Amino acid sequence: MIRFDYIKPASLEECQELLNHYQGKARLFAGGTDLMVEFRADDKKLKDVEVVLDISNLSELKIIKLDEEVISIGSCATFTEIIGNQGLIKYAPFFVEACRTVGSPQIRNTGTIGGSIGTASPASDPGPPLVAMNSILTLLSSAGEREVLLSDFIVGAYKTIIKSNELIKSIKFKTLKPEAGFSFVKLGRRKALAIARMNVAAYVETGEDGTAKDVRIVPGSATPITIRITEAENMLLGKTPSYELHEAVGKKVSEKMIEITGTRWSTPYKEPVIASLVKRALNQATGVKENG
Ligand SMILES: Cc1cc2nc3c(=O)[nH]c(=O)nc-3n(C[C@H](O)[C@H](O)[C@H](O)COP(=O)(O)OP(=O)(O)OC[C@H]3O[C@@H](n4cnc5c(N)ncnc54)[C@H](O)[C@@H]3O)c2cc1C
Repeated sequence: MIRFDYIKPASLEECQELLNHYQGKARLFAGGTDLMVEFRADDKKLKDVEVVLDISNLSELKIIKLDEEVISIGSCATFTEIIGNQGLIKYAPFFVEACRTVGSPQIRNTGTIGGSIGTASPASDPGPPLVAMNSILTLLSSAGEREVLLSDFIVGAYKTIIKSNELIKSIKFKTLKPEAGFSFVKLGRRKALAIARMNVAAYVETGEDGTAKDVRIVPGSATPITIRITEAENMLLGKTPSYELHEAVGKKVSEKMIEITGTRWSTPYKEPVIASLVKRALNQATGVKENG
């Protein structure tokens, strides 16, 4: 049986020292909901692990704060803490909605936002709204802090650019404008405990003339990296939102998904589902009636 040490650093400084000391042979443990599954599924993944660093109690990593229209969330904030935060409920409701759909109460009580980003699963629920809000991560190492766009941080399914001596300190984004419409919709295999089969975050800002001025459409579980589908967004820019337009935009997202992933065994299911979820998300974000 493979053995490794377990250390609970008492401070961020100690954690950074340990990351330096173990030179890539340490794994961070926040809520453990992904890490334990990973370890159980594949013993080989433990081969190079000498120590697990439990950061779940580091209070500096749990702070959620609102400062001049920017909300910052510490990486070890749990989903339960996020969905109970009044600032987030007010200023980033579609992100809160996504976090509310994660797993079960037990998963939300221990799972953290930093752990979700660290795993970089294409099926993450918080991922699409975070990408739609152009979120920025703060990464910390003994060399200091650096900021990186979430969309540049994840470079493939389960792949990020984090260095072995770094940890995710926090994630930040601007508060949503009151005139913006937004929506998060998800289709899970089962109601509870389902890793998202497919989801979509949509953000639409309209001008006084009723036309769309800023559009962001981010499907989840559709592409290896959670990204904005700009070709679909452009179809809406400068136009008045309508059921027919949203239907066409949904089809464009499906087309782009197949262009990126190729045709797979799941394509006959995913193609109509993602088109329909995009249409529904855009209708909700813009107040267009669902039945046209
Ligand atoms: C039964 C079940 C149901 C689930 N349902 C959903 C769902 O519906 N939707 C969904 O999106 N997810 C779901 N998940 C996935 C999981 O709960 C989330 O990805 C969760 O947020 C992971 O957070 P964690 O704190 O448990 O991460 P951990 O397991 O502690 O860590 C995950 C990874 O991130 C790294 N890491 C952790 N913290 C940091 C940090 N601060 N800096 C750098 N790296 C870090 C770890 O080393 C590890 O590689 C489910 C999981 C389970 C087991």
